[in-house]
Amino acid sequence: MTRTCIVIGASHAAAQLTTSLRQEGWEGNILVIGDEPHLPYHRPPLSKAFLSGEKTAESLPIRPAAFYQKNDIQFRQGRVTAINRDQQTLTLVGGDGEKDGKSEQLSYDKLALCTGARVRKVELPGSDLNGIHYLRNMADAESITASVVDGRHAVIVGGGYIGLETAASLSQLGMRVTLLDRGPRLLGRVTASEVSEFYHRVHTEGGVRIHTNIAVSGFSGNGRVQKVICADGAEFPADLVVVGVGVLPNTELAEAAGLNVDNGIMVDEHCRTSDQNIVAAGDCANQFNSVYGCRIRLESVPNATEQARVAAASICAQNRTSEFLPWFWSDQYDLKLQIAGLSRGYDQLVIRGDRRTGRSFAAFYFREGRLIAADCVNRPQEFVLSKRIIAQNLAVQPDRFADESVPIRELLLADSPALASAGG
Ligand code: FAD
Ligand code: NAP
Repeated sequence: MTRTCIVIGASHAAAQLTTSLRQEGWEGNILVIGDEPHLPYHRPPLSKAFLSGEKTAESLPIRPAAFYQKNDIQFRQGRVTAINRDQQTLTLVGGDGEKDGKSEQLSYDKLALCTGARVRKVELPGSDLNGIHYLRNMADAESITASVVDGRHAVIVGGGYIGLETAASLSQLGMRVTLLDRGPRLLGRVTASEVSEFYHRVHTEGGVRIHTNIAVSGFSGNGRVQKVICADGAEFPADLVVVGVGVLPNTELAEAAGLNVDNGIMVDEHCRTSDQNIVAAGDCANQFNSVYGCRIRLESVPNATEQARVAAASICAQNRTSEFLPWFWSDQYDLKLQIAGLSRGYDQLVIRGDRRTGRSFAAFYFREGRLIAADCVNRPQEFVLSKRIIAQNLAVQPDRFADESVPIRELLLADSPALASAGG
């Protein structure tokens, strides 16, 4: 009998997983169920080129409809509300064209959870006023875009990637942008203070007014937001508010089905959950990372893509493992930030280039003399080299990294040996 693999969630992980399934030789049915009315699309442009008007919705699909047709990959719109692991069935509500909440049962042989993450919402007085937005999907981005008016006030809550990329886009569109972060500095959890200072400077130069160490306590307005109110009494005029204060993994389905969940659906190195017929990949999955020697739940496209490849191989009984070096990117103004590795636990920071007045530099993070991460701003060569050094755990001399007279290729010692595993 023809076997069926059902994928829940239709985004970056699902697009790759279905493609990889066919490449690995899966001959059965493939059905993707997603609750958004779109084929999988690129999310990163939503805060960048789509918001700033350089890209349209038509340019965002990860693969064209013809690709899925050719590979016999079916899509249904709807929401999966339950998984019955004993019977290998799931409950789908609001399938194609059904708005009346009817449900149906679908059977699977293999199941892939690609349910991703959703925005964390703020529950404050006035937080249900019109004009207060979050940014996770196409509908969110479209409604923000529709509210952009040159010269009007936009307030961004949160100084993470969403906050900074949105601030850059809205400022470039002529809005008067104020950004509020509760922490002492921008990108506080992911970069060194030297890199935060750089982003503070370039955003200030870009016209964004930044306030750190400030707690939003509510919003006021008459049906529509007019002001953002802070705990210290400060008030900021707002025609548009975008809140970007992090995401929560969509793990409720998995948890209700009795799978192991702890800050993400727990998967092994093959992206298998605690059920041999169910894999998970992407923002919803928590996996041991062999490069860093600990479990992590990553929120990035490269991670979703890599885990999806591994998960597809597992479904096809191929024992592929993930040895993924985390990497990220962020586009703001004319700046391409590329991040190799994770910097937490570093004990030495070396800067190459002029971060104080320039727009191109790299920050290298070392622990006990080993390179563990690098933030590279308009420095693609340093990024590529850093990925290699970290992934292969190569020996280097940290002090040489600051010296711009040492060519990049010579940062790698001629006899750079691989060091013993970095571990924890
Ligand atoms: P998601 O993209 O979260 O997709 C999960 C999908 O599953 C969603 O459509 C969800 O609605 C659906 N779903 C969930 N539960 C169910 C259910 N029960 N039934 C049906 N459907 C369900 N990452 C980068 O690496 N670089 C960037 O520059 C970058 N920029 C970003 C910019 C923005 C504006 C945003 C929002 C994210 C950005 N990210 C970036 C993060 C990146 O988009 C995510 O890491 C990536 O989308 C994760 O893919 P995923 O497939 O795991 O999950
Ligand atoms: P994020 O990176 O977790 O940053 C959230 C920021 O908001 C943090 O600085 C956080 O500070 C702050 N914050 C939290 N609660 C707050 C509050 N009540 N008031 C004010 N500030 C508050 O999350 P994000 O920027 O919202 O991004 C969401 C997701 O999209 C993430 O998965 C992110 O990786 C992804 N994304 C990625 C990119 C990229 O890779 N280029 C771009 C956009 C989005 P604390 O640290 O103190 O909590």
